[in-house]
Amino acid sequence: MAKLAFKCIECTEDASELHRDYSNGILKITICKSCAKPVDKYIEYDPVIILIDAILCKIQAFRHILFNTEINIHWKLCIFCLLCEAYLRWSQLQGSEVTSDPADIIRYTKEWDFYGMFALAALELAVYCVGVLAVLWPVQWLYGCSLNLAPLLKALLLSCYGKVLLIPAVIWEHDYSPLCFRLIRLFVLTSNTQAIRVILNCSRRLSVLAVFGGLLLETCVSDSLHKLQLNSHDYLPDLYT
Ligand SMILES: [Zn+2]
Repeated sequence: MAKLAFKCIECTEDASELHRDYSNGILKITICKSCAKPVDKYIEYDPVIILIDAILCKIQAFRHILFNTEINIHWKLCIFCLLCEAYLRWSQLQGSEVTSDPADIIRYTKEWDFYGMFALAALELAVYCVGVLAVLWPVQWLYGCSLNLAPLLKALLLSCYGKVLLIPAVIWEHDYSPLCFRLIRLFVLTSNTQAIRVILNCSRRLSVLAVFGGLLLETCVSDSLHKLQLNSHDYLPDLYT
């Protein structure tokens, strides 16, 4: 069995174990040699408490999840979050479309809009990740450290869990829904910032800069695609007249 490497959630010092199991059935939590605090106090906590601390963006909770657990649901979570985002965009698209055709012969094709929105959301997420990496990549040369892609990508995808909130925000639609969407977006970006900070053990300024870089690139690509879509709508009707 492979030896697991843990990290202290207070000072990020490496640790070989989180607790010690004595022969008489007594479990004792491991104390960090560097900071003299428990290596990972969250192993005794209820998952709900850990989730609440993660929602509050506590860095110790992020370290516990990213370093001391074997959560491998990031791809499934990513697809689910993309579905949530696609549903939001699709519902807004449906709300903006006014059709007077009673037959509505292209009704079935509207489902393709959903897949289109899913692809668009996936593309924007990929561009966002590329933007984050584009900022962080030169930094590794600057500080002489190596950037490990897999943990960083996992941290980014896991910290997007806030997008799940889009579903209730769409279902219980009200006048403040646009504000809710912006707050959810802000929450996801804050979680991303904290996740990058934990994985790279870097300053808050650098992680904010990386997220800003990703957001900037994503916005540019999103705006370009939107303009391209508008231009295609300008030209396409001429083909059918
Ligand atoms: Zn420590």
